[in-house]
This record gives sequence, C-alpha cells and structure tokens, in this order.
Amino acid sequence: MLTEIGDVMRRSYEKGWITTRDGNISLRRKNSKTLYITPSGWRKAIIHPEHIVKCKINENNELIMPEGSKPSGELFMHYLIQRNAPTTRSVVHVHATNIVAAMYAGFSLPEIASHFPEIHRYTRVGASVSSVPALSHELAIETADNLCVKEDGSYEFDIVGQKNHGVCAIGKDPWDAYEHIERLDHICEIVLKGRMLL
Ligand SMILES: [Zn+2]
Repeated sequence: MLTEIGDVMRRSYEKGWITTRDGNISLRRKNSKTLYITPSGWRKAIIHPEHIVKCKINENNELIMPEGSKPSGELFMHYLIQRNAPTTRSVVHVHATNIVAAMYAGFSLPEIASHFPEIHRYTRVGASVSSVPALSHELAIETADNLCVKEDGSYEFDIVGQKNHGVCAIGKDPWDAYEHIERLDHICEIVLKGRMLL
C-alpha cells in the first residue's frame, strides 16, 4: 500500500491536480501506531516507499516525528483525521483543478453532488472549508470538522473542498480516496462546462 502513495501522486501530477512539489498523502493501517506521510518539498512525481516519513502515534495519541525527518507541512491535518482511525485509512490532499475552480465560481460542492447520481451514490461530499491559509491549524481543524467524525471514529463524509486551495479525501487506501476526488472533479468539470454553454 505504500507503493500506492507514490502511484496516486504520479497520477495526480499527470492530471494536473498538483504542481511538482504540491499535495500530500498519509496512511495508517488498522491498529497500527505508525502514521506514514509524504515528505515536504520532495518532487511528488518521484515518491517511492523509501521516501515516506514514518511518524508514531503514542499511547497518549500524541504524534512523535522521527528525528531529522521532514514530513509534509500539512501533517497536523493528516494527524487530526487519522488519530482515531478504527480501520485502515488513507488521507489524500491535492489541488484538483475543477473542484477548486467550481468553488471559486461560487458553487456549493454538496449541492452539485446532489444533482449527479454517479457521485452521490458512492461519494459523500461535505461542506467546503473556508478560505484559510495553507499549512495553518485553521485549515487542519476546519477540514477535520467538516468531514464530521462519528462516535465509532468513521466519518460522515468522504471528501471536502478547501476554498482557494484544494480538497481532502479519505478512503480505505490511497486509490479509494483518489476515486472520490476523481468523481467530484469530473462532475465539477461538467458543471463548469455547462455553465459556459448557458
Ligand atoms: Zn495544498
């Protein structure tokens, strides 16, 4: 599954959802105290398992980073979403072009999703995060809040947009999270093209 992290990064780069050093992915396996996360500043198209940073979540649910490591600047967002994961979970953050464009044009992502059965049958879209700075605690907290954690540690939503920035999706593995982004990006592209025709 660590190989999938690099594969999803490469696909996201090919799709134009990130420039070369953008985006981040984490993975936590069921019952594991290890949080795997992509490194900061690395060219994401050449990510392989040996580049991934291995953080620990201790018995007090605190994050311990390996000395000298450079995990993603969005580590806190990943930690908040992963700290109580009851099953294997991957979190993917990229700047999916059509989703960001649709938010910028003023569309509500949950409302768009409700018009298209191909997405709302498989992907639950939460309210978008307001325009807050990248790498900030506000972004991390609002993203985790809008995914809406349930009592059992699962989330009510699979994906939320982050205005003027990107998206954050969760899945049982990196490709599962990627598919939520791809579905939402596709219908955002359709909506934006439809609006141009009008
Ligand atoms: Zn970002």
